[in-house]
Amino acid sequence: MQSTNDIRRAFLDYFAGNEHYIAPSAPLVPYNDPTLMFVAAGMVPFKNVFTGLESPPAPRAASSQKCVRAGGKHNDLDNVGYTARHLTFFEMLGNFSFGDYFKERAIELAWNLVTRELGLDRERLMVTIYHTDDQAHDLWRKIAGLPEDKIVRIATKDNFWAAGPDGPCGPCSEIFYDYGSPVAGGPPGSPDEDGDRFVEIWNLVFMQHVQANDEIVGDLPRPSIDTGMGLERIASVMQGQQNVFETDTFRALIEASESLLGSAADGETIASHRVIADHLRSTSFLMADGVLPSNEGRGYVLRRIMRRAMRHAHLLGAKDPLMHRLVPALVTEMGAHYPELARARPLIQETLEREETRFRQTLDKGLRLLDEETAGLAEGGELPGETAFKLYDTYGFPYDLTEDALRARGIGVDKAGFDVAMARQKEAARAAWKGSGAAADDEIWFDIAEREGSSEFTGYTSTEVEGRV
Ligand code: ATP
Ligand code: MG
Ligand code: MG
Ligand code: MG
Repeated sequence: MQSTNDIRRAFLDYFAGNEHYIAPSAPLVPYNDPTLMFVAAGMVPFKNVFTGLESPPAPRAASSQKCVRAGGKHNDLDNVGYTARHLTFFEMLGNFSFGDYFKERAIELAWNLVTRELGLDRERLMVTIYHTDDQAHDLWRKIAGLPEDKIVRIATKDNFWAAGPDGPCGPCSEIFYDYGSPVAGGPPGSPDEDGDRFVEIWNLVFMQHVQANDEIVGDLPRPSIDTGMGLERIASVMQGQQNVFETDTFRALIEASESLLGSAADGETIASHRVIADHLRSTSFLMADGVLPSNEGRGYVLRRIMRRAMRHAHLLGAKDPLMHRLVPALVTEMGAHYPELARARPLIQETLEREETRFRQTLDKGLRLLDEETAGLAEGGELPGETAFKLYDTYGFPYDLTEDALRARGIGVDKAGFDVAMARQKEAARAAWKGSGAAADDEIWFDIAEREGSSEFTGYTSTEVEGRV
């Protein structure tokens, strides 16, 4: 069996052998785009190259890029544990041509890699193309010899990529693996109720046009290529598994939580073990790249992911903080390729332990309140927004954690009511401030404090006042 680490190596070696410069993964916090929460695709570090603002490091490049899809435009947080293919942290394997080769060579490189180097059964592969892209259709016929029924034309934006309303854009072609039958589907109402029979493994983007105001206005003088393949997805295919959580890396992480908790991952508990393993990876890698838990922005996304994992540890019966004790297993699995992870290990462990110790002081009480408040609710019921706000304000439950906690029971949360309660509290704080006789100028500071930091409760023992001015 090829390990995930071997597959990453095979991918990079293949493209190095085809004259690609191997770029190291960029940090998860984008240096070149303040509007992005996290790097969510392999092309992000090259964005300015594709738009012409920076010159390319080489005509062709390849990388295994760390990605987080847990906030902002790309958010798979609610999929994790429910689908067989979504993670919040994953590695995107990609090859890039900066005005060098184009569609024909890109399809050839991808097809040869998956069928020859990685040895996938070609009968199980199929592709989608953008509905008007006859050129891609003809190339898939010619290079891969795919029959008509395995080249599916898609007319939606899913198969058309654009940097934004203005700039380079072009059709995509996605390679799917057909497992033959669906994996046991997710719970009713989840994104994968029908299971994952066809799993997208690789996305090829053919940047060939320029658009202005969302309209194609011309062609790029030198078209480019951007591709992305999920390492964990290709690893699951190669390891004969229909679920990214069944790959070697995840098995090792789940074995670690099983042995620390004395709880076998099966039936009821498997989803919690999976969520913990996934969230361990995203939180650890984010901290290794300098993000620390806070009550705003990226730091709050990090804290939310941590707390979600900590609730699952609690569900599995953890009596003490768990997450920091799983870090050694993660470093064993991934530290060789990502030395920043090994370097940051003390920081990651201390931060996780402190956060979990603190959250555990209110978690239990919060969950009890949640149980009481929902005891009378049947499936399809809704938790009042007031209660969700109380959980947030008094017990440190991020809104999405409450939602996640009730999802398995088919109970929703009144989001509008939550927002009203939040706004009311802010208004009250503002009025108290005004009434305190503070100078008018101080109100400016209040505005800033309100914008920059939330007033989320952070635990009775908290000595620092986080995120507030
Ligand atoms: P899907 O439709 O399955 O959500 P996507 O079209 O959103 O995938 P892309 O943006 O095309 O994904 O990303 C390129 C590749 O990265 C995908 O083909 C897939 O292999 C992988 N990938 C995307 N999202 C995830 C995720 N959340 N976890 C693991 N791998 C992912
Ligand atoms: Mg997606
Ligand atoms: Mg897709
Ligand atoms: Mg895609």
